[in-house]
Amino acid sequence: MIDKSGVAAEAVLAEIRALRAADWPTHGGRLFAYVYDPAVPGLDELAAAAHRESAHVNGLDPTAFPSLLAMENALVGAAATVLGGGPGTAAPDVVGSVTSGGTESLILAVKAARDAHPEITEPRIVVPSSAHAAFAKAAHYLRVALDVVPVSPATLRPDPAAMAAAIRPETVLVACSAPSYAHGVVDPVAEIAAAAAAAGVRCHVDACFGGWTLPYLRRLGAPVPAFDFAVPGVTSISVDLHKYAYAPKGVSVLLHRDAALRAPQYFAYADWPGYTMINPVIASTRSGGPIAAAYATLRHLGDDGYLALAERTRDAVAGLADAVRGVDGLRLMAEPESTVVCFTATEGGPDLFVLVDELTARGWHTQPQLSYADLPASVHLTVTAAVAPRVAEFGPDLADAVAAARSAGPVALPPELLALTTSLTPGALTPELVAGLAAGLGLDAGAVDRMAVVNTLLNAAPPALRERLLVEFVGLLQRPTW
Ligand SMILES: *Cc1c(COP(=O)(O)O)cnc(C)c1O
Repeated sequence: MIDKSGVAAEAVLAEIRALRAADWPTHGGRLFAYVYDPAVPGLDELAAAAHRESAHVNGLDPTAFPSLLAMENALVGAAATVLGGGPGTAAPDVVGSVTSGGTESLILAVKAARDAHPEITEPRIVVPSSAHAAFAKAAHYLRVALDVVPVSPATLRPDPAAMAAAIRPETVLVACSAPSYAHGVVDPVAEIAAAAAAAGVRCHVDACFGGWTLPYLRRLGAPVPAFDFAVPGVTSISVDLHKYAYAPKGVSVLLHRDAALRAPQYFAYADWPGYTMINPVIASTRSGGPIAAAYATLRHLGDDGYLALAERTRDAVAGLADAVRGVDGLRLMAEPESTVVCFTATEGGPDLFVLVDELTARGWHTQPQLSYADLPASVHLTVTAAVAPRVAEFGPDLADAVAAARSAGPVALPPELLALTTSLTPGALTPELVAGLAAGLGLDAGAVDRMAVVNTLLNAAPPALRERLLVEFVGLLQRPTW
C-alpha cells in the first residue's frame, strides 16, 4: 500500500476509479437504497468543490473556524424552517446540531434524554418495532433499556394507546418515525407526542428519512399528517441532509425545541492537562468538508429546487407502485405515503429473495427485508428524483423478473443447513463453523452473485442468530490486505 517512492497522482486516481467500477451505480436511478440522487447537473461538482474548500477545517473549535460555525448555524436554521420551527412558529426557540448522520443524531437524542434525568438510574426508551435500528444501537451504547411496541401488520404503525401504556416512571424518551425507513409510513405522531407530554417525557420524531420530503410533498397536495414542531409535545426531530436534502454523505441535523432540552447533549471536560473539550456531538475533530458540501447543496437547490425534486420523486413513486400493482403475485405492504415503495409476495407469489436477484441481473438494485415478527419478508425501494426517467423501464423488467423467479422457484437450503440455522444458538456459533458456512455459500470470496441463498438462510434464523452470523460474515470480509 505505501510504496517506497509513492505513486503519481493520476495513477492513484486511476486505481480508485478501477476499484469503484465494482460498486453499484450511485447515479442513474437504478439503485433503490444507500444513495440519494437528485440528478441535477453540476451539483456533484459544486459539492465536491465546497468540500475541498473546507476539508481541512476542524469543527472541534467553532471559535477558531467561524466559517464552520456560520455554515452549521445556517444548516440548523434551514432544517428548523423545513420542520416547523423558527421565528413566528410554534417553536421559535428551536436549536440544533449538525451531526455525521442519522445514527449519530439518534444516539445524541437518547443521550440528551438520558442525561436530563441523572436521578433515573435505569433509564428506558419506548419505540415502535418499526423504529430505525439506530435506536437499538443508541440504547446499547448508552445502557438504556429499549421497550419495543409492535406495529400492526395491517397499518405498519404502532397503536398510540400501546405506546402510552409502555411509558414507565423510568422512561426518558418516546420515539416515532416520520416516516419509518422499512415501509415509509408516518406514525401517529400527534397522539404519541401527546401521550409523552402527558407523562412529562420527551418525544423524538425520527424524520431522518423523510424530514426533507414530507413538507414538500404536503405543499404538492399530499395528505401528510402533522409530524413536526407544529405538534405539541414533540421535543426533538432528526433529519438527514445526506438523504433527501441530497447532500454528500456525512451530514444530519438534530433539532431540539429549545436550548434547555439540548443542554444535556453536550459533553464538556476540563479535568485533564490539555484543552478543555466541549463537544455537542460524538466526534471531536470533525472535517468541515461534509458541512460545506451540504451548505452548498442547500444554497444551490433552493426551495423551488426541492419542491421540483419532490414532485419528480412523487411521480416516480406513483409509477413504481403502479408497476407493482400490475404484477400478479406481488402486493404493496402499504399504499405509498412518502418516498418508499415496499412490496411483498402474495400467497403463491414468487420467492422474494430470488426476485431480488433477478432484478439485480436486470440492473435494478433493490433492498430485501427479512421477515420479522408477524411481518412477511419484503422488498424495499428508496425512491429519489433520479428514478423518474427510469420508471417506464421498471414495469416490464419487474414482470420479467417475477416470471423468472417463478420458474426458478424458491431457494432450497440443504436440510442440514436449515437444521443448523433453526437449532443453533448464537453462543454455539464458532468462528470455524461460520468460516465453513461462508465458504459453502461462496461468501469468503467477497462479492456474491446470487444473494438469495444467503437471504434465505438468514430469513430462517431468529434475529439473535442473524446478528451473530452477519457479524462473523462481515468480520471475514474486513481483513487487512498486505
Ligand atoms: C437512514 C435512517 C437512520 C440512520 O441514518 P444513518 O445516516 O444511516 O446513520 C435513522 N432513521 C431513519 C428513519 C433512517 O431512514
